Amino acid sequence: MLIPARMSEAEEKRWVTVMLNKLAAQESRRVLGDAELAERAERLSAQYFGGRARPASVRWVTNQNTRWGSCTPSEGSIRLSHRLQGMPEYVVDYVLCHELAHLLVPGHGPGFWRLLEAYPRTERARGYLEGVVAADRLPQVPGARDE
Ligand SMILES: [Zn+2]
Repeated sequence: MLIPARMSEAEEKRWVTVMLNKLAAQESRRVLGDAELAERAERLSAQYFGGRARPASVRWVTNQNTRWGSCTPSEGSIRLSHRLQGMPEYVVDYVLCHELAHLLVPGHGPGFWRLLEAYPRTERARGYLEGVVAADRLPQVPGARDE
């Protein structure tokens, strides 16, 4: 029986590549602080809504488990569920855009969705979030989640 004493050079290179990719993935999913979140909202508002949506505050909350985000237009406050932390950036951006749009249009009428069409990944982000909700409802397979 042959047991390699150490990795070959090729194996080592491959392993380093895998680890670097993992680090890069973690980096891109880094959690934003509240200040960064507010900055991001400002940038998105400028990019997609001509800067018209101006929230007074944008922050993460941990007491919001049934909604991804919420907005109180009278106060200009936007809150995002901490459950979004670690999700891809385009998903967080979608929820921010959604709540920013509510500062301009209350409710989910056709005018609201027309406004949100400005954000190009609305459909994709909604699909992602629907997938998360569906996965949460699946019966747990033992061992399937211990990563
Ligand atoms: Zn909404």
